[in-house]
Amino acid sequence: MEKVRTRFAPSPTGYMHVGNLRTAIFEYLIAKHNDGDFVLRIEDTDQTRKVDGAIDFIYDTLSLCNIKIDEGPNNKGKYGPYIQSERLPLYKKYAEELVEKGCAYYCFCTEERLEKLRKEAEEKKIAFLYDGHCKNLTKEEIDEKIKNGEKYVIRQKMPKEGVSEYTDLVYGKISVENKLLEDQILLKSDGYPTYNFANVIDDHLMNITHVIRGNEYIMSTPKYNLLYDAFGWDKPTYIHVSMVLGEDGQKLSKRNGDASFMDLYNDGYLPEAIVNYLVMLGWSPDTNEEIFSMEKLIKLFDPKRISKSPSVFDIKKLNWINAHYIKKLDLDDLLKITVPHLKEAYNLEDKSEEWIKELVSIYQDHISYGKEIVEVTDLFFKDKIKLNDECKEFMEADGIGNTIDVFYKEIENINEWTVENINNAIMNTKEKAGVKGKMLYMPIRIKVSGQMHGPELPDTIHLLGKDVVLNRLK
Ligand code: GLU
Repeated sequence: MEKVRTRFAPSPTGYMHVGNLRTAIFEYLIAKHNDGDFVLRIEDTDQTRKVDGAIDFIYDTLSLCNIKIDEGPNNKGKYGPYIQSERLPLYKKYAEELVEKGCAYYCFCTEERLEKLRKEAEEKKIAFLYDGHCKNLTKEEIDEKIKNGEKYVIRQKMPKEGVSEYTDLVYGKISVENKLLEDQILLKSDGYPTYNFANVIDDHLMNITHVIRGNEYIMSTPKYNLLYDAFGWDKPTYIHVSMVLGEDGQKLSKRNGDASFMDLYNDGYLPEAIVNYLVMLGWSPDTNEEIFSMEKLIKLFDPKRISKSPSVFDIKKLNWINAHYIKKLDLDDLLKITVPHLKEAYNLEDKSEEWIKELVSIYQDHISYGKEIVEVTDLFFKDKIKLNDECKEFMEADGIGNTIDVFYKEIENINEWTVENINNAIMNTKEKAGVKGKMLYMPIRIKVSGQMHGPELPDTIHLLGKDVVLNRLK
């Protein structure tokens, strides 16, 4: 059987949208599930969008996500170069071959002429399709124009009748009427191919067996198939995947809270958790489990279970999954994703390393992502705590004043400031004030932390320090 080969084909924009990353994960899983190869190809034919360092950025992102590239710009492979701008002679050769075969033609239409056609279409409220003006130029006319230095593009010649069909693994049968297919540009006047051309040439030359990509390409794929047919090449298996939407149902964008991978990573989300979350966004396994390692995903992944409907990026769900992974971290790794945020938010100069470690470790089960440490620990860094209405209401219950007074004295009498002695102080208060459970812990917790929930009370009190605690109890 033919070796399965998939490719991730990002444009080097220096930004990894979560939707793109999800596509990369699907591509990787399909390749690895079948013992195949995962190829990275850089699609930089739109030179205006290119950003310096973007290729390294893509490598860093994939490597953090534990996605291993078999072939790509920085890896050896038989099918390079893996950067489209380094493959220009190939595209030219194949475009000219199509002209020879009568499946493409030179077009010398000026931007002004095309603009006029576009305007006319707009006025008539019809979709603009190039009118085939240059389709029937003679060989002599073409040579003459080229000799005169006229700029040209090469366009694909589309059939005007009939229907083009193909089967997508996720969406099933897709058909398009040929008269709706535009004689699209394959090679631009600057010698660069369009995406529409380069993707076909490269997928074929790189022996790609499965093309997985966003469903914005689903209706263009018949055009690509006509190219495969014109060359007499085998077509890949197509797997189009739905869009990832924001919670407002709109396409994810920076405005509606689109988190790029790096934004999430920098906020202290763990790559394993992001991968776990993204893979479940539009794909479901045949089990009720929700936590998957990469290894397990490779074993389980079946592209037939990819969903057709758009998925919504749900930060709460990501938080839930990330919290699960955070609970399993060892302290060093936990410190890595939290301490930089603490340092940025608070002055830690007078805090010992031990103190910081203790703080982070008691919050391990209370944060969903690294940066959240800042908000949940603010009670340790502010002079005055302010009670919300719920806390205030609780503190109005009978007998609470007495509990606090008793506890104050117990704390005052502690000589050695240890978690154990603090725990004893609470136990003594229980006895002396004659209160237990919620009526014992809650008033103390609210008084010292300003909150109704949090890590173990003795741990919290220990970290606050005796002076601060006495002050707050007063
Ligand atoms: N460069 C294209 C994009 O970023 C890739 C699409 C594809 O995978 O074919 O949308």
